[in-house]
Amino acid sequence: MTFQNFIGGTWKPSASKKTFLKVNPANIDDVIGKFPQSSRADVREAAEAARDAYKHWRLVPAPKRGDILRKAGMILEARKDELAREMTREMGKIFAETKGDVQEGIDTAYYAATEGRRLFGHTVPSELPNKFAMSVRQPIGVAGCITPWNFPLAIPSWKIFPALLCGNAVVFKPAMETPKTAQLFVEVLIEAGVPDGVLNLVQGGDEAGKAVVDDPNVNLISFTGSSQTGAIVAQNCAKRHKRVSLEMGGKNAIVLMDDADLKLALDGVVWGAFGTTGQRCTATSRLLLHEKIHDKFLDMLLKRVEKLKLGYGNDEGIDVGPVINETQLKRVLNYIEIGKSEGAKCLIGGKRATGNGLGKGYFIEPTVFANVKPDHRIAQEEIFGPVLSVMKFKTFEEATQILNGVRYGLSSSLYTKNVNLAFQAMRDFETGITYINAPTIGAEAHLPFGGVKETGNGHREGGWQVYDFFSETKTIYVDFSGSLQRAQIDNYES
Ligand code: ADP
Repeated sequence: MTFQNFIGGTWKPSASKKTFLKVNPANIDDVIGKFPQSSRADVREAAEAARDAYKHWRLVPAPKRGDILRKAGMILEARKDELAREMTREMGKIFAETKGDVQEGIDTAYYAATEGRRLFGHTVPSELPNKFAMSVRQPIGVAGCITPWNFPLAIPSWKIFPALLCGNAVVFKPAMETPKTAQLFVEVLIEAGVPDGVLNLVQGGDEAGKAVVDDPNVNLISFTGSSQTGAIVAQNCAKRHKRVSLEMGGKNAIVLMDDADLKLALDGVVWGAFGTTGQRCTATSRLLLHEKIHDKFLDMLLKRVEKLKLGYGNDEGIDVGPVINETQLKRVLNYIEIGKSEGAKCLIGGKRATGNGLGKGYFIEPTVFANVKPDHRIAQEEIFGPVLSVMKFKTFEEATQILNGVRYGLSSSLYTKNVNLAFQAMRDFETGITYINAPTIGAEAHLPFGGVKETGNGHREGGWQVYDFFSETKTIYVDFSGSLQRAQIDNYES
């Protein structure tokens, strides 16, 4: 099956007619389809179509734009299972999780729909008599949305729904690993009534992404991906004075105090570390154990990890799916070798899984390293796979220091019953998100999402805050005095 780009309301192949093949990472013999390999010319056409459509879309009342997004939410809801099945086939995470991914899109759509009736500005008293002052929210123009593959519906919805609601047109460049979900997502929005040209889909890889950033018709960029690529995107945006929002890597940790509910923590650690095969930017990649419960908890953890069932996520009873592709497989296996060579102890897993019919997929056994030191590479670098690095600490202060001692700052977690420590963690853990007695994953669509340090550049997705990114503030003064009133001068004349 060959799929196409969607530009100016028309499905069409890339100008060069080049395509790329997408396969199921749980079974590479299962071909999902051929998708357009887009280049600069396709992006230019999409951005021009968006620029044109923007002229009308910006004038559609925001509540009306919200109605279209509500309809999109309803269609997503009706097609939830079908979309989730396709997503599991395309990128590997298990069916329960891909349903969660679609649900996040539904939640984001309904939130956006109601935001259409808010989009608040401010009214403020003027310092002069018979003068009215206010600020209103206005669209910006064409938004370039560049997305990764690990949340192939949720992340595009986080960007595209608020962008559209605010009155922007969109050029959407999804990851090459999840073109089918992107295709289905765009079909839903067309069915919901998004007018021609307002949403444009350009499939392809890094070249297409770069072209979106460079295109003069694109005014702002919302990017989620690696910190390395994010830095390049930011530099290219700076050259053109484009607004840019970056969501990047993480090296998230759970801290387990000696008073914690260990059973509760066990559920959280396993879910945080091995959910989505560890391929979340919020995945629990480090586990910091208080020395008093270190051995006991490790023992509990290994017994649980041993039972995790690897397989195709659309089959019943599977806990962990494959990693996304061969590059990622090699990268994660390489990190496992690095861990061993640095002196950490691999307690379980540590290799590719090929038995029980898994040989056609990119499966890695859930892996736990103990004796990890805070400066080890597996304790510092984002692995993006089913690998957990365990460290031991003596005091909460030491744990805080280890937790904060990385380049990233996305998510963190503390398990304790001590309310004072909980509040210290909320204040002192240097991350954009902190969980108490819950793992590092589990963001809700109506709260701000994002990180500090090399994880982000100060913007947030989700909730109310993302609407600031996708809109411009305009300040308006209306003088109904009938005479020239000079601010700061006439009202202070002695
Ligand atoms: P990952 O390592 O998670 O695959 P990347 O950061 O490489 O993530 O890519 C995230 C998204 O950014 C993808 O859609 C990719 O095609 C796109 N991309 C890659 N390089 C660039 C670039 N230089 N400019 C814009 N987009 C890019």
